[in-house]
Amino acid sequence: MNKSYIKCSECNTVNLNQEYCSNCGAILDVVLKRKLESESKIQEKIEQQKNIKPNKVEAFLTNGLEHSNLIIRFFFKAGYAIWLFFAVLVGGIVALVTAAAAG
Ligand SMILES: [Zn+2]
Repeated sequence: MNKSYIKCSECNTVNLNQEYCSNCGAILDVVLKRKLESESKIQEKIEQQKNIKPNKVEAFLTNGLEHSNLIIRFFFKAGYAIWLFFAVLVGGIVALVTAAAAG
């Protein structure tokens, strides 16, 4: 057993073999503190990406897909399929042009 005394940077309480201060609860391990900080930053980024609004066209079509009228739902399904088709097509063309320009 290696005993380690760590003085809390927040309240100057000396703690023995503890990760968190027994007095104020602050993290004593600097490495652990940094790790937790970087983890919370990653978590923040994930939350930010979740909050990004979806593509307007897709949002419009997705709303239409949940319409109460069957015929309107059908048209939206067709529109959504066409939209996806063109999205893939345009993506493919862009990839081809990029590849042609590069090579
Ligand atoms: Zn403390």
